[in-house]
Amino acid sequence: MIKGGIIIEKEFDSSIIYDMNEYPDKNSGRCDNCDKGHFKSSVSEGKLIRECRNCGMKKSI
Ligand SMILES: [Zn+2]
Repeated sequence: MIKGGIIIEKEFDSSIIYDMNEYPDKNSGRCDNCDKGHFKSSVSEGKLIRECRNCGMKKSI
């Protein structure tokens, strides 16, 4: 992503639900963003969403 001529490094956005197929876990069972292993699960639009309790990053699994 380029903003104002400056290249912004990819960072995780807690308002986006990432897809496990596109963003597989770097460490299985760990949050990619903060590397914590505590999640809460919910179901949204028929998908199981795993949300990190620490940083709020969401992934559909
Ligand atoms: Zn996290």
